[in-house]
Amino acid sequence: MPGQDVIVIGAGPIGLATAMSLAGEGLGVTVLERDGEDFAAGPDAAARAWREWRRPGVSQFRQPHILLPAGTAVLRARLPRVTAELEESGALRCNIVAGAWGLPEIGGRRPGDERYDTLTARRPVLEAAFAAAAAATPGVSVRRNTEVTGLLTGTERITGRPHVTGVVTRDGEELRASLIVDAGGRNSPVGALLARLGGPPPVSERAEAGFVYYARTFRGADGTPPAQAAWPLVHHETVSTIVIPGDHGTWSLCLVVSGRDHALKALRDTAVWQRAAAVLPELAGRTDGEPITGVQVMAGLHSRIRRTVVEGRPVVTGLLHVGDAWAATDPQFGLGLSMGLAHAASLGDAVAKTGPQDTVELALRFDEITEQTVAPVHRRLREWDRHRFAEIDAAIAGRRYETDDPGWNLTNALDQAKLSDPDVLRAMAGVACMLDTPEHAFAAPGLLDKVGATGGGTAWSRPAPTRAEVLAAVGAA
Ligand SMILES: Cc1cc2nc3c(=O)[nH]c(=O)nc-3n(C[C@H](O)[C@H](O)[C@H](O)COP(=O)(O)OP(=O)(O)OC[C@H]3O[C@@H](n4cnc5c(N)ncnc54)[C@H](O)[C@@H]3O)c2cc1C
Repeated sequence: MPGQDVIVIGAGPIGLATAMSLAGEGLGVTVLERDGEDFAAGPDAAARAWREWRRPGVSQFRQPHILLPAGTAVLRARLPRVTAELEESGALRCNIVAGAWGLPEIGGRRPGDERYDTLTARRPVLEAAFAAAAAATPGVSVRRNTEVTGLLTGTERITGRPHVTGVVTRDGEELRASLIVDAGGRNSPVGALLARLGGPPPVSERAEAGFVYYARTFRGADGTPPAQAAWPLVHHETVSTIVIPGDHGTWSLCLVVSGRDHALKALRDTAVWQRAAAVLPELAGRTDGEPITGVQVMAGLHSRIRRTVVEGRPVVTGLLHVGDAWAATDPQFGLGLSMGLAHAASLGDAVAKTGPQDTVELALRFDEITEQTVAPVHRRLREWDRHRFAEIDAAIAGRRYETDDPGWNLTNALDQAKLSDPDVLRAMAGVACMLDTPEHAFAAPGLLDKVGATGGGTAWSRPAPTRAEVLAAVGAA
């Protein structure tokens, strides 16, 4: 591959977004993807992607996904080809706060609400748009059926730290480039390949508990979905629910439970799932459509992060991690794609400043931007998870979760106030959609005072089924 500047490992949405961003900087980029099947866009791309596209490398490929406004904003600003492909394939335009406009306390749409607009679709449809855009981007070439199984190294740029200069594929082919980007996703093998090279390890953290998703996707009998939920994510004592709008009159419903909640494993059974959904008020009327999947289970959803600049020095040069390969989050908040797209854009910015050759400076600069942009979001979600698992553990044990962490109590108070105050709603939506930091969103004078009196305390609120009622519904009481 003469003239090769960058190799990206993984043709998921973030690998492809990274490739397109770097090609936009004038670099030649080859994306290597272990899954075999290519997917050609076309008039019926959405239907075919959903029906036919097999992606064993992405366990969540048919799990519900929403692309939130921050991710859509990155696409509009930086990768308009993807936006055009999404529009072409019939992606849904929606506004994240629109479901609350009808509530008397919220009082309808306001100027400025367009910041919560998004363009979303079922995951295979989303990914087909990225694939089509990448195929049409000069400087990007995607090789499927090409699994990376090893890393090549060259002369160290920092003593004692491996310098990665290329990859080895399963067929034994050796490919070299100035920069290797790991976009291998949540289960990327690249961390393990790097460990084989010696050198100090990255700083890695993995949450000890993970969530389990039990999801179904539906289509409206006459092509019309039910009205948009007032807010997509609702917590109960030990179950959370998510309502995700999709393209072509589809929508998905997820029940999210702790991996330590053995009594609710029964949710994998369709009849049990339906009975549980029937006692959750926010799902009323939403299970009436034509189901287009059974219950799709995904377990082991641990949040995880890897940092390769330790104490101010890169532990490796020539290799960077983006998207889920850098940090995987709890998917309840639907931010993985948006974080990954922001991360890919940051890498484009870092490379624009340093070029791909100065790998030490690039590693430092990319780490710095990552710490300023997406790392705080990951830390916030991880902290929320920590409390939520403790809250669920307490509920399983029949106790109430007590913490004196003011952050958890305030978050819950705000969450509970959002559908009764238009300003709190917009501030919450700004944070939930990754458009604002909490510090900025809640800085308006008097905003926090509005919720001071509610006390917060739990992630869930009444009226809602208790754990005992959910267990009775699933037949596990
Ligand atoms: C259940 C669930 C629900 C989610 N819901 C949402 C949501 O609603 N909204 C949202 O924004 N995010 C959501 N996410 C997160 C989202 O799926 C990820 O953030 C996103 O897929 C990350 O994209 P990626 O390109 O980094 O990785 P991936 O999409 O995982 O792609 C990685 C690619 O690398 C390839 N690969 C791996 N190893 C190799 C190798 N050795 N050689 C070559 N190729 C390799 C894989 O085959 C794959 O194609 C959800 C995640 C889960 C688990």
